[in-house]
Amino acid sequence: MSSAPSESPSGPSHDLPVLNWTHRLTQLGPRFFTLLQPTPMAAPSWAACNQTLRAELDWPKELFDDEHLLAFAGNALMVGSQPLATVYSGHQFGQWAGQLGDGRAIWLGEAESSQGPQEIQLKGAGRTPYSRGGDGRAVLRSSIREYLCSEAMHGLGIPTTRALSLVASPEPVRRETVESAAVVSRVAPSFLRFGHFEHFAAQGDTDSLRALADHALAHHLPECRTRAALWQGNVYAALLDEVQERTAKLLAQWQAVGFCHGVMNTDNMSLLGLTIDYGPFQFMDGFDPGHICNHSDHQGRYAYGRQPNVAYWNLYCLAQALAPLIDDQEMTLQVLQGYKTLFPRYLGDAMRAKLGLVGDLAPESEREADWTLVEDLMQLMAAEKLDFTVFWRQLSQSVVQQSAASALTDVGWSAVTDRVLDRPRLLAWLARYTERAGQSHFAAMGQQMLRTNPKFVLRNHLAEIAIRQAKTGDFSEIETLHNLLKSPFDEHPGFDAYADLPPDWAGQLEISCSS
Ligand code: AMP
Ligand code: MG
Repeated sequence: MSSAPSESPSGPSHDLPVLNWTHRLTQLGPRFFTLLQPTPMAAPSWAACNQTLRAELDWPKELFDDEHLLAFAGNALMVGSQPLATVYSGHQFGQWAGQLGDGRAIWLGEAESSQGPQEIQLKGAGRTPYSRGGDGRAVLRSSIREYLCSEAMHGLGIPTTRALSLVASPEPVRRETVESAAVVSRVAPSFLRFGHFEHFAAQGDTDSLRALADHALAHHLPECRTRAALWQGNVYAALLDEVQERTAKLLAQWQAVGFCHGVMNTDNMSLLGLTIDYGPFQFMDGFDPGHICNHSDHQGRYAYGRQPNVAYWNLYCLAQALAPLIDDQEMTLQVLQGYKTLFPRYLGDAMRAKLGLVGDLAPESEREADWTLVEDLMQLMAAEKLDFTVFWRQLSQSVVQQSAASALTDVGWSAVTDRVLDRPRLLAWLARYTERAGQSHFAAMGQQMLRTNPKFVLRNHLAEIAIRQAKTGDFSEIETLHNLLKSPFDEHPGFDAYADLPPDWAGQLEISCSS
């Protein structure tokens, strides 16, 4: 690795064997990317090093030494890395947006790890041919949000790109106001998006489209070879089928924790079904199916309750892109239909799990009846604007407490009923729930619920506190939050305030697309 004070990072000067790189993506050739160098940033410093992820991947401690600080800032190159930016296109807010591409994310290569090859990107490391007038930078504010939310989602068991490090710089970046720059290094088996496929389909370049699909099949989704048996041996139909199923699962998981992505454009949809591109996201506070977390989304296209349908719309775009490969319109439409069966099924399972109704505690035959129970509760939650996270956690705790009671009383449920205006309605629901579940199962159910309904989520105001501190050069709150969010189902004694309802000022926070 070498450091370079000047304009672009120079080549490797010694061979510190920290990561072993492979570059399977580069074999696709220059139609898919542009080789380039990150742009160095002034006076970089560590704002966060994710030792947990580093250890999970079995990467050495040296990764976070002073020399690597320069590499993760984009000021130096790690030996064997091959920086580039990929090209993709996409639909933004329902309209074809044409060519987009990695405008500020610079791909370094695939590094071997204990969990298979992992691609590493530096987000905010300077301009690329796809920057379209942007500065290629990311501000510290949005980088902290991406770093923390990636790890929060992983802690919740939701597929996501991961965040390995966060490097801050005093370099000014102009948004609505002047802010400072940062680079998040993010990690995923692949950063391929629906938009990568849309790009070559829109150009009518079927050879490149096929090469890209074959790359994905060979290196990232080999299980599609087996799945093709369901589709008369058509591996591209199997590819679409795999993606729709992963997307259905992902959306069910988002909905079940009250996560709003905010910008579900097709270029922000991962082929591997990962949560990707954290912008104006939000974990909902008071439950509102129509909640819009992105203040630039005036039509509410990406409102919480619309996310599952938008995902289907996005899959439709992917299907159109893959159509020349699948070469069978009827089959393509049939594959897409899978989402309409799978998403409700995954959501139903996820919501039943939130009620503790899983495994031996809940026969499959009760699925439909349980869904009515879920829907009635969600309607009540919406009518009362009950806090999504607090309510489910309190219900879990109450179920544990009630398991020890000799007889169930209304008072025994007071932790969940206290915040509700229409108590008779909630008590009637709790009576139905008890009848369905059986009090004798409450102990086991309660434990299950505490592992399903998190105590801690990355609420906007928690991120905001970490951001305000970081702007003064104090990054300790990022670490505190990371520690809570990486195990969000644990109690973390002494940190109860982080699980509280949002303060009044949180309602004034405006999270825009600007990042
Ligand atoms: P996003 O809304 O973050 O998903 O970005 C949409 C497109 O704009 C992608 O092609 C990004 O790479 C690009 N983009 C966003 N912000 C910037 C920036 N500051 N500089 C260059 N490109 C950007
Ligand atoms: Mg994006």
